[in-house]
Amino acid sequence: MHAPSGVIPASNAERQSQLRAAGARHVHWFRYAGADPFSGSSLYACRCGVVRPGL
Ligand SMILES: [Zn+2]
Repeated sequence: MHAPSGVIPASNAERQSQLRAAGARHVHWFRYAGADPFSGSSLYACRCGVVRPGL
């Protein structure tokens, strides 16, 4: 978490944590999250942070 900056390059562990944050290991559960102000279509968001337009 608090490694000295500029010393340790991005590690595999960091990449794996990013994959986990992207929800690569679960089935997305999309819930209605509001309307897209640009297109006017509905937006659905998973609790992991992934958002996609209306189905
Ligand atoms: Zn998800």
